[in-house]
Amino acid sequence: MVGGRSSRSSDTLVASRVVPELPDLVILEEAFQAALVGRPLVAWDAPQSLVVRGTSSEIAALVQVPLDRVERRGKFITLGFGVDRVVVNPMLTGRLGLGTPGSKALSQTAVVLTFGPRRGAAPRRSGGSRGSASWTAGADWMPPDDAMVELRYRDPTRMGKVYVLPHGVSRSVAGWDEQGPDADDAGFVLEAWRARITRHSGELKGLLKNQAFVAGIGNGYSDEVLWAAGLAPFRKRSSLAPEEVDALYTAMREVMRWAIDELRRRVPPRFEIEMRDFLRVHRKGGSGCPRCGTTVSQISPGGFVTSWCRGCQR
Ligand SMILES: [Zn+2]
Repeated sequence: MVGGRSSRSSDTLVASRVVPELPDLVILEEAFQAALVGRPLVAWDAPQSLVVRGTSSEIAALVQVPLDRVERRGKFITLGFGVDRVVVNPMLTGRLGLGTPGSKALSQTAVVLTFGPRRGAAPRRSGGSRGSASWTAGADWMPPDDAMVELRYRDPTRMGKVYVLPHGVSRSVAGWDEQGPDADDAGFVLEAWRARITRHSGELKGLLKNQAFVAGIGNGYSDEVLWAAGLAPFRKRSSLAPEEVDALYTAMREVMRWAIDELRRRVPPRFEIEMRDFLRVHRKGGSGCPRCGTTVSQISPGGFVTSWCRGCQR
């Protein structure tokens, strides 16, 4: 049956990929903030225009406007041009990276934003709750201030979207309004977590991946958070004791901080590749649990890998 076969293989293609999650996107936010803020947009090219939500006149109005901020929310990256914004949702297969104009782009590059030389001094980060981006100083990938640089968006399946959002234009960004608080949001305190979690049922892994409950966690980091909390992925939320609810919150916060710090140290020259080899349980099926030594279990329904330890996750 040709139809079934083809849809199954495309599912596998999508599911076998590593998907960007909150820690990956924090790294992009910090890197692009350091590399691009203070530079004017000088050109916008969309070889795959289907991923763009916006009109050519809206895009033309952004040219020569300097980028003044890069922000992350959930699994979205926002580029700020004064009161106007460009929001990128990479979904499963979209990837953002930097390139030198004239250098070969990766295949399936969908949108290229070219930025001009930086005007004035490099942006000074305020520090911020995440300790900001001192790791970016002097990095190999940092473009010189007087050079042009491209922000390239690649998306083999074109499932992701690039939204142009001029001030005053109402254009819905799929998935944005439904988001719960970010997993690393300083204002998302334990009391708020306790109140939110009672409104959701189902298995813990699905709960953590539900962007309406908490934003930014996907298939990989949900496994890491559950391992850190000592909770099994298929436990029902309703079965959790109060101290387990609290332990899950603590684990989520710790895993986000830990992973962001690890990624800052490990970021490769190409931002399109997610670094995951340092994770403790996700995709580590068959190896020993770093906590108790039990062989890590792994299943991959629909191609999405779930890994956990039967020895120490209850
Ligand atoms: Zn274990």
